[in-house]
Amino acid sequence: MSISVQHTPLRLCNARTVTSEGLRDDLDLLLQDGRIAQLLAPSEPSPGERWDLGDKLVLPGFIDTQVNGGGGVLFNDAPTPETVVTIAQAHAHFGTTGLLPTLITDHLEVVAAGVQAVDAAIAAGTPGVLGIHIEGPFLDEARRGIHDANRLQQLTDELVETLTPLRHGTTMITVAPEHTTPQQIARLVARGFVVSAGHSGADYDTVSAAIDAGISGFTHLFNAMSPLTSRAPGMVGAALDHAHTFAGIIADDHHLADASLRVALRCKGPEGLMLVTDAMPPVGTDASQFELHGKTIHVRDGACLDAQGTLAGAALDMARALRTVQRATGCSLTDASRMASDTPARFLGQHQMRGRIAAGLAADLAILDGEQQPFATVIAGQTVWQRDSH
Ligand SMILES: [Zn+2]
Repeated sequence: MSISVQHTPLRLCNARTVTSEGLRDDLDLLLQDGRIAQLLAPSEPSPGERWDLGDKLVLPGFIDTQVNGGGGVLFNDAPTPETVVTIAQAHAHFGTTGLLPTLITDHLEVVAAGVQAVDAAIAAGTPGVLGIHIEGPFLDEARRGIHDANRLQQLTDELVETLTPLRHGTTMITVAPEHTTPQQIARLVARGFVVSAGHSGADYDTVSAAIDAGISGFTHLFNAMSPLTSRAPGMVGAALDHAHTFAGIIADDHHLADASLRVALRCKGPEGLMLVTDAMPPVGTDASQFELHGKTIHVRDGACLDAQGTLAGAALDMARALRTVQRATGCSLTDASRMASDTPARFLGQHQMRGRIAAGLAADLAILDGEQQPFATVIAGQTVWQRDSH
């Protein structure tokens, strides 16, 4: 797949469209020059080709801020533009039109290679790549989860200056606030990083100070962070309490109990929660295992587990996360769609360009069937994937 802007208008007809205001069955979408040019009543004339979608659902394309791999590859294993293409293509089969290839804790040479790879992929016009997520190595050892303890590092003022953000796209970094200073966080934000808190045992006050310094998000809420208790609200309490922060959630039926998802949604609303996959190489393949820093990880009933039973990311795609959050919380498709697209777009500062179905925004669309299974994916007006009808 590669981007070539379509100049001939394309009209999507007879679909049910998920807009910010709700599900509409009386709207056609006119796509042109990579954008949503117009929302039209079915009776309004327009130039160009027609695509009759016969009751399919059209949603804003999914934006996933945490994608370790897919299509059989892990970004850490080969941080190259080719790997980025493979991952983006694999996730496009599930409605994802924008993702951040995500490096888990690794040596800083790997981080630098990852930044270069994503920059090169975006410069080459790879569809569906919005930035990079650097998850570690500046994390808390006790809350590292599957991350390799030998590769964790202490963030220093010098490292803050030598870490390089992308030239193209958004650079997200997850840090443990108890191992960083508010000044370091403020400096990272000033240098263009979007800073998220995670893999951390920080107490409520430390997290609050980090938010004042510029942390705007939480990486996989509830997982690998200090819990909410009576006198120690912890990072979970801080994430739920600070209204204007964003939190990723892994809705895969393994990382979170349904009740935890419901509590999170009640506290933060669909404007604060972002569906993420934390996807590993098996997504988009039939693989039942993969290697992670020399450990064999087995996929069992959709969970990725090491020999000790520690979760190692997820075998989750965004379409399934969308269905799971509706089943677990009873939320509407409109709210689930917001958590999959608009909210992550706002977190990344890209909401002026994408994340909703509105005139002028990127023609990035997830087209699902009546069971909310992926049917086709459109990026910048181009159909990059369509389900084989055979
Ligand atoms: Zn993690």
